[in-house]
Amino acid sequence: MLAEVELEVSRPNFHTWFRKTALTDVEDGVAKVAVPNNFAKEWLEAKYRRFILKLLRSYDSDVREITFAIGKPNNAETPVTSPKQAPHPSAATTTLPLKTPAQHESGLSARYTFASFIVGPSNELAHAASMSVVKQLGTLYNPLFIYGSVGLGKTHLIQAIGNYFKANWPNDTVLYVSSERFTTEFVQAIQHNRVSDFSMFYRQIDLLIIDDVQFFGGKEKTQEEFFHIFNALHQGGKQIVLSADRPPRDIKGIEERLLSRFQWGLSADLQLPDLETRIAILRRKAVEDGIQIDHDILEYVAHNIKSNIRELEGALIRLLAYGTLHEREIDLPMAKEVLRDLIKDTRVTLSIEEIQRLVCEYFSIEEDLVRAKTRKREVVQARQAAMFFCKELTQHSLKTIGLHFGGRDHSTVIHANQSVSNQIDTDSKFREMIEEIRHKIELRSR
Ligand code: ADP
Ligand code: MG
Repeated sequence: MLAEVELEVSRPNFHTWFRKTALTDVEDGVAKVAVPNNFAKEWLEAKYRRFILKLLRSYDSDVREITFAIGKPNNAETPVTSPKQAPHPSAATTTLPLKTPAQHESGLSARYTFASFIVGPSNELAHAASMSVVKQLGTLYNPLFIYGSVGLGKTHLIQAIGNYFKANWPNDTVLYVSSERFTTEFVQAIQHNRVSDFSMFYRQIDLLIIDDVQFFGGKEKTQEEFFHIFNALHQGGKQIVLSADRPPRDIKGIEERLLSRFQWGLSADLQLPDLETRIAILRRKAVEDGIQIDHDILEYVAHNIKSNIRELEGALIRLLAYGTLHEREIDLPMAKEVLRDLIKDTRVTLSIEEIQRLVCEYFSIEEDLVRAKTRKREVVQARQAAMFFCKELTQHSLKTIGLHFGGRDHSTVIHANQSVSNQIDTDSKFREMIEEIRHKIELRSR
């Protein structure tokens, strides 16, 4: 369920409200959800009750009600516990985990390892950089900065660094923390007059991993604190690993001096995985979960979900859940049916204008030209490519597409489409170009 929630709400919302929750029990139509604190309890009750109920009902139509109770959920691997083990509700105390580093929790999840990370052209640089960092901590690339858009494996990779470190240097201290969590703890430290404890705690860490640092944007006090911690660790030869959804220079609202430090070491990006890598990831996931699934189904999923590995996994999970609930073998027609809305969703967001704009940008021509009468070679090429993508990636009719290209006839769109398809089949350079444009469009369309 959490995997589905993650797809539905924004990342900060997911991190703040959902990540630490768990379904602990369902009895007589009442679902019990464990939440970490009172704040989360009230917020979920007020804002997300209906949303959660609806989602629960899609799994179990008997559920009528939800109760939220403060308690510690089990780990993500086994979110559902039997009623006997259900956590005891406790008073809502949000205490700061300011223990000595030796007794702190690392924040790492054991499932994110190098071994479970599939390497392909889209991520091999970031992967290689991560592997070399753990072998030469603090000296090679410091900080290591991993960036890429949502669901491409940033958290997985930087946690893998942490897990590798933990396994090999059990006496040293590693801490993984999201930037939101860092911020929250810092704010609490201010409220409780414990800023110096906070700062001491972080300075004793040997490997500090901070996820999604773009959320430091605009938080000046937090940035200042982090700046000093960063300097202390860096000077002490301690390794720092950071991630963000974009390269350092594009992060908004971060002080210049901090930004420049982000760029001291190495920045490595995660790109969209290609088809083979997507299939390999799905296959690995299926093996991990011990399930048999036909290659053509994996291929169907990988072919249609391209921009986000989390969604790719989400699709597989949905298929499994459906198959289990209905006690049916997963076959291709069923996969198509079950994933229909997921797959359609990734396409409806594109408009014809958007495609025209992106294609023209690619060919460096004025956007108006694709709608104009000109028959110049490079314009015709751009126009045909844009028509081709409009047909493939939008739901618009040929007629509508033609109209948006300076009132052209639908037969012109058919012709363009055929011409592009033929060239894709016969000319590998051309095919590469089309794939590049597709990649560009997909990156922008989310
Ligand atoms: P991000 O932090 O960039 O948003 P995550 O690291 O959370 O993305 O990755 C999303 C999901 O995809 C996770 O379940 C992760 O394990 C999986 N994943 C991402 N990249 C890979 C990969 N190369 N091999 C295997 N699984 C991957
Ligand atoms: Mg992440």
